[in-house]
Amino acid sequence: MNPTRPIHQKRTALLLYALLLVLPFAVLGGLQWRQIGIDLRSERARIPEEARRTAQRLTDAIKRRVDRLLLLESQRNPTHFAEWYTPPGTSGESLQLLQSPLHTAKRPAGVVAWLAYDLFGEVNKQPPLLLLGDGQQQADEDPLWSEGLKLTVGGIFDRNLAEDTLKRASRVREVRESTVELVEVAVLCSYPQQATCLRTCLGYMRGQSEPLSVSDFHLQCAPGVNGDPVLFATRRMIVSNYPEELASGRPCLKPLVSGPRLTQGLLLDPRWFLEVLPAEAADEVLGANERLILDPAVPPGQASFDILSELGVELDSSLPPELGRASIAIDSAAMEQRYRTQRVRFLGLALMLIVSLAFGLVSLWRSVTQQIEQVRRMENFVAAVTHELRTPLSAIRLHGEMLLDGWTTSGEQQQEYYRRIVRETGRLSSLVERVLEKSRLTSGQTRAVPGDLNHEIRRLQPSLALGALQAEPGQAAEPARDEEPSDLVFLLEDDVPQVFLTSEAIATLVSNLVENARKYAPVDRRAPGWEPIRISTRRDGSTVLLEVADRGPGIPPEESEKIFEAFYRIGNEATRTAPGTGLGLHLCYLQARAIGGEISVHARDGGGSVFRVRLEPVD
Ligand code: ADP
Repeated sequence: MNPTRPIHQKRTALLLYALLLVLPFAVLGGLQWRQIGIDLRSERARIPEEARRTAQRLTDAIKRRVDRLLLLESQRNPTHFAEWYTPPGTSGESLQLLQSPLHTAKRPAGVVAWLAYDLFGEVNKQPPLLLLGDGQQQADEDPLWSEGLKLTVGGIFDRNLAEDTLKRASRVREVRESTVELVEVAVLCSYPQQATCLRTCLGYMRGQSEPLSVSDFHLQCAPGVNGDPVLFATRRMIVSNYPEELASGRPCLKPLVSGPRLTQGLLLDPRWFLEVLPAEAADEVLGANERLILDPAVPPGQASFDILSELGVELDSSLPPELGRASIAIDSAAMEQRYRTQRVRFLGLALMLIVSLAFGLVSLWRSVTQQIEQVRRMENFVAAVTHELRTPLSAIRLHGEMLLDGWTTSGEQQQEYYRRIVRETGRLSSLVERVLEKSRLTSGQTRAVPGDLNHEIRRLQPSLALGALQAEPGQAAEPARDEEPSDLVFLLEDDVPQVFLTSEAIATLVSNLVENARKYAPVDRRAPGWEPIRISTRRDGSTVLLEVADRGPGIPPEESEKIFEAFYRIGNEATRTAPGTGLGLHLCYLQARAIGGEISVHARDGGGSVFRVRLEPVD
């Protein structure tokens, strides 16, 4: 069975888990992001429609105000549209002639003056009448003002006179009938110089009443004397024709014979209509992000409308058609900003989520990888220990059986077999010792004491000789096979200060490092220019260094930390030929830590590696 398969399966499961975790967020987030875009686009598309609705509401509000004004004005007594009038039911023996209340009436907002004229009757001989209401005062102060108005009203009269009957008739709508006293009609249709005549005719007129038809106001806009637009509302008042005999001997009743068709009306302020009134209505109707544009120089908003045509004003063709044009602009900046904020918030949230997901997944990945690594090391360890156990056990068994079966009678040969059995037993117990040492160092406390490092190393020197490391403690080292020089060289600096140590720690460090150097960087003493394994001590600043340097293959930089972990061995177990359990350097690490030092590995100049133990000197 492939041992890497479960590891791969675990990694795939982790990847699948990450995908399942990320995918719903990615899908939901994408949908939400898309929805924000759709909402923004549909809200943008709704703006013109919204502007149109607002424009409609605004024109309705303007119309309501104008209708109210015209309704109130239409309720004025038609007999008041004259220089004088007689109050109904007051004519007794003498005729009461009072000044028209329109001379002093309070002018409603938007109304400049009241006007009256008779196109074809006797009254026609008089100029059009202009009643200024409470503005009379202003007229007195500024005669030019009232002169201008007179000219304007004269212009309206002339324009009306020039029109054909059909056109005039087309404006007469919604006629209301009422009955007034004949004397009131006579006063309305006469002129001031006829007061004496009227008084004379009073006896004839008393008790007679007359039907009077009054139309609704009709709005018109035409150029004034200086070409500026003039706005006015007029209504027609029709008095029935009287027979010719009525006027004989009564000249003041002559206007009644010709069937007077009086025009009464209001001269309106175009600025009030086209600016003040829309602005007031806009205050009432428009929302915070909506704006009314009246200035033709400003680019129009999303919905344009025509105030004059909405009000049913008859616009003279000589006036510019864009007169009264307005538009509603909806400021979309706030809406755009709202969506921008929404998007930024969304991105912020997504970022937070991504960060926390990434953090979680990385932690998960790390812990799983660590576990996988742990398992791998345990597997390696089990394999290594099995191998380390099996080899000496087989050797012991083999040599034991050979001795038992009497395979050799030679005493020397038998001695050799016994030595092998003892050596393999030593290997076994050293393995057990190492495992025990690790658990002791991991859990227990070591008390480091001041000691002489060089002295400790010198004491170890005999046991480090070639072959001695494999010997059972207490046994003599195997003698060197030939007179070859030692593969070790000791360079111990003389004035190395005392350091904190334990003999056991220094023994573990030196013997393991030397053993490794021999295992992974063996010295070929027959090769020319061979270099021994160097064991050295020296002072480095305030610390003391113990180094074991070899000329072997070296340690790859990415492995330089891992090799100190328990059961870690470089490369694949199958490719590793050297015996070992991955515990040697870990024990070195634990021992160095136990005496307050630290161990590291470095690349050696000219090839090989340097294992360096930094120790704390005694102050
Ligand atoms: P073991 O020797 O039992 O495998 P160690 O903990 O002593 O375990 O060593 C860990 C690994 O470090 C070894 O498997 C080997 O690959 C590497 N190593 C140790 N010392 C040396 C060295 N001097 N030169 C090259 N590689 C080494």
